[in-house]
Amino acid sequence: MRFSAVNHLDCPKCGLTHSPDQVIGLCSCGSPLLARYDLDEVRAGLTKDEVASRPPDLWRYHELLPVRSAENVISLGEGMTPLLALPRYGRELGVERLLMKDEGLIPTGTFKARGAAVGVSRAREVGVRKIAMPTNGNAGSAWATYAARAGMEALIAMPIAAPEICRREVSVVGAELKLIDGLIGDAGAWVREQLAVREGYQDVSTLKEPYRIEGKKTMGLEIAEQLGWKLPDVILYPTGGGVGLIGIWKALAELAELGWVEGPMPRLVAVQASGCAPIVQAYEKGLAESEAWPNAQTVAFGITVPKALGDFLVLQAIKETDGCAIAVDDVDILAAQRRVASVEGAFICPEGAANFAAVRQLRESGWINADDQVVALNTGTGLKYPETVPL
Ligand SMILES: *Cc1c(COP(=O)(O)O)cnc(C)c1O
Ligand SMILES: [Zn+2]
Repeated sequence: MRFSAVNHLDCPKCGLTHSPDQVIGLCSCGSPLLARYDLDEVRAGLTKDEVASRPPDLWRYHELLPVRSAENVISLGEGMTPLLALPRYGRELGVERLLMKDEGLIPTGTFKARGAAVGVSRAREVGVRKIAMPTNGNAGSAWATYAARAGMEALIAMPIAAPEICRREVSVVGAELKLIDGLIGDAGAWVREQLAVREGYQDVSTLKEPYRIEGKKTMGLEIAEQLGWKLPDVILYPTGGGVGLIGIWKALAELAELGWVEGPMPRLVAVQASGCAPIVQAYEKGLAESEAWPNAQTVAFGITVPKALGDFLVLQAIKETDGCAIAVDDVDILAAQRRVASVEGAFICPEGAANFAAVRQLRESGWINADDQVVALNTGTGLKYPETVPL
């Protein structure tokens, strides 16, 4: 069978299809595009045993990824992160079957490496040589790093308030860095100005190209494989642009269509900080799209996204899986970060800690049951955020 079973790109808004074998951003209607695969071909040509025999990185699922040829894979060994039981902390929260998928153990220290590995590989494969993007920090450091590995140029625009380590990461790999006195939306506006006057750059902003989400969906593939192709009851995800949550939802839908998993989908939970919770607000009002959040601010910098391009997909994923969206306060995020570290020995990032603050609230309200199997994504290592913990 083919290295990749990718067939076409689908617009989830207007239904148009596009060829994947071209440099492409959004659909002509302005919506993000989603990659579609020939799943009959995958079902006929690939087995779970074959996947199990492959190296422990995300390229073990290459049939379900968009890169057409093995020679075009740009890898730093990303993927197959641990799915850890948290027995002591779980008991404390009243959720005995609490698991953490730990994305801290991945190149550049956050799960953004998944989107960058697949996005950069595919961009290079279709002929892109220069990329540009706005970022809250972690995506910029990941894309700059993989661009360096690929021999590509990268232009990264980042808010001044982004974690300093992300700036240093962009700098050490030799990418061009622009600091913006503002939020990620302002960085995006600056990138668009530059793209109008510079030549040869592809805009690889969140969901403005179709392949970052394909990399992020491998978190969902791995969770299923690591649980023996059985699905958990609940998955929590710290939601900024929402790409990880949409990706996990897409991955599980593809596995269900392949017949590799059965039963109900996990209830997907979008966790946001109370200082920037546009998706929670839209969920509570029953809206299909979010409204831009004014004066966004939270210690969980990676989820400071006042208006996400893929908000309608996040809301759809929550709705179709009987999930929910919930906001948590910064004090509870920081308390959860310290508690997970002290009872489980895991120094997680504030975004990941937001999930645990949410598990506590959802268990207290009865939305999570005592016997639910619950998977929380720790999207990055706490080592990238040393200033969030006291000395
Ligand atoms: C980017 C980021 C998120 C949010 O990811 P999205 O998929 O854009 O919602 C969460 N945690 C960390 C550490 C991040 O860097
Ligand atoms: Zn469209």
